[in-house]
Amino acid sequence: MKVPMTPENTAKCLCASCPTFTQNDLKGGIFCAAGKSEKAPEVKACVCTNCGVFADYKLTGGYFCKKGAAE
Ligand code: SF4
Ligand code: SF4
Repeated sequence: MKVPMTPENTAKCLCASCPTFTQNDLKGGIFCAAGKSEKAPEVKACVCTNCGVFADYKLTGGYFCKKGAAE
């Protein structure tokens, strides 16, 4: 399901606490809505499954920073 870029969803995003985010020094977040990271990350782990947005929009998979926005 597509995720709208809203302040509520942005506030729920857990990307900033994710090892993939911190170890690759990524910028932004809410990749499920915004699309893939400008900098291609070396993936470590994904915490999307713990995120309220993941549940609210019935997302699957995670790693949106690498794969691009949810559809
Ligand atoms: S599902 Fe992942 S990318 Fe989307 S808001 Fe949550 S932590 Fe961020
Ligand atoms: S999309 Fe997943 S892997 Fe990428 S930074 Fe967010 S939580 Fe981490």
